[in-house]
Amino acid sequence: MSDTIFGKIAAGEMAADVVYEDDDVVAFRDIHPQAPVHILIIPRRSIPTLNDVNDNDAELMGKLLLTAARIAAQEGIADAGYRTVINCNAQAGQTVFHLHVHLLGGRALQWPPG
Ligand code: 5GP
Repeated sequence: MSDTIFGKIAAGEMAADVVYEDDDVVAFRDIHPQAPVHILIIPRRSIPTLNDVNDNDAELMGKLLLTAARIAAQEGIADAGYRTVINCNAQAGQTVFHLHVHLLGGRALQWPPG
């Protein structure tokens, strides 16, 4: 469970600015925010990448996105708009191999992303 930085955060072994947590997911502010609101939503259980999810994870994956939407509302960025991102593996820029959803907002975001 504590194999990555995020595994340690999920296990309560490493500090983070946690904005929401329950038995299944933890959400905390990114240490190097790329937007005024930049929050990471992770499963408490370690799943390395999006490639590693299976049918048994369908409810958990839905909960990650539902949590992102609820936090967006709490952060006051829901109406203006926000982005959710899951980077998968090296070419997408994934650096922490514990599945996470980025929630970004609070400024105009460019498309396509770099
Ligand atoms: P990735 O590039 O894997 O999709 O995103 C990893 C994210 O984790 C990056 O945005 C990075 O700033 C963030 N991050 C890396 N280490 C830490 C940490 O120790 N604490 C927090 N809160 N965020 C981290």
